[in-house]
Amino acid sequence: MSWKFPYDSPNAIIQLLEDKGLAMSKKFGQNFLLSPDVRKRIVAIMELKKDTNVWEIGPGLGAITLEILATGAQLTAFEIDHGFCRILEDEAFGDDENFRLIEGDALKKWKEVYEEEGVPNIICGNLPYNVGSICIAKLLENECHPSRMVFTLQKEVAQRISSPCGSKLWSSFSILAQIDYDTRIAMDINTGAFFPVPNVTSSVILMKKLDKSLVDSSIRATFLMVVRDSFGQRRKTLRNNLLGGKSGKLLGREATLRAIATSGLEEGQRGEKIDIPSFIKLATAIQDEIQRIEK
Ligand code: SAM
Repeated sequence: MSWKFPYDSPNAIIQLLEDKGLAMSKKFGQNFLLSPDVRKRIVAIMELKKDTNVWEIGPGLGAITLEILATGAQLTAFEIDHGFCRILEDEAFGDDENFRLIEGDALKKWKEVYEEEGVPNIICGNLPYNVGSICIAKLLENECHPSRMVFTLQKEVAQRISSPCGSKLWSSFSILAQIDYDTRIAMDINTGAFFPVPNVTSSVILMKKLDKSLVDSSIRATFLMVVRDSFGQRRKTLRNNLLGGKSGKLLGREATLRAIATSGLEEGQRGEKIDIPSFIKLATAIQDEIQRIEK
C-alpha cells in the first residue's frame, strides 16, 4: 500500500477535497480526526491481528482505515459519501487486497453483508451521534455480536451505553448493550482533535463481548419488549408503562399486574432504578403469563 496522506493537516484535507470537486457535508457529520496520537490509540484498543476481520463504519477519507490496514487486518468499510468513496477506492486503498468498500448507507447495507458472511471480529466507527446510536442499536437488536466494538461517539451517547443502573442515563439502550457486552469509555477526545471542530466532546466506547449473554435466548424477545415498555415514558411508573405498552396489550391488566407482583418488583418503581437481574425476573414472569394465555 503506497497511499500516504497528511491526515493531521486541515489544509491538505481542504486541498484534496477541492482538487476532487468535493465539499464536506454537515448532514453526514463529517469531522475528521486529525490527531495521529488519538488515531493510534483507537486502533490499539481494537487489539487487531493479521487477518482480523474488521468492519469500519464511516471511514471518511481513510485516516483510521490506513492505521487498520497497516496491521494486516481485513477491512470492510461502509461509506455513504460517494465522493469520499472515489478517493478511498481510486486513490487510497483500492489496490490493497485486504480492503473492501461498501458504498451507501451503512444502516441499510450492513445487514446484507451480515446475512451473507456472518459476524466480523470487530466493528468500529467514528460516527455522527444520530447514526452512531441507531447503528449500534441495530447491530445489538439483530444479535450481530462481534467480540469487540470500538466507536467514537458524542460523549453523552457513550455515557448512555455504559451508564450503571440508577444513573439518569440508565436506559433501554444501556441494557441492550450491557446484556451482551462489558462496556466502558476508553477515552474522551477533545473537540480540537477534529476538523472542523465539532460542538460536543466525543468519547471512545469500548464494548467487549461477554462470554455468555446475561439473558437466556428463550426469554430474549420478551425481555427486550419489557425493557422497551418500561422506559416508554421516563416519568411514568413501571405499572403504567407496561399497561400502556406492548406487554399490557398482550396480557391485559390483570395478568400484567400479576407478573409485576410475581417478579418481586413494585408497581410504582421506575425503569431507571431497575437493574438487569430484576428485568430478567420480570420478563420471566411476563413470559409465563404469555404461555398461560396461549394454552
Ligand atoms: N473516520 C473518519 C475520521 O475519523 O476522520 C471520518 C469520520 S466522520 C465523523 C463520519 C463519517 O461517516 C463520514 O465520512 C460520513 O460521510 C460517514 N457517514 C455518515 N453517515 C453514514 C452512514 N449512514 N453510512 C455510512 N457512512 C456514514
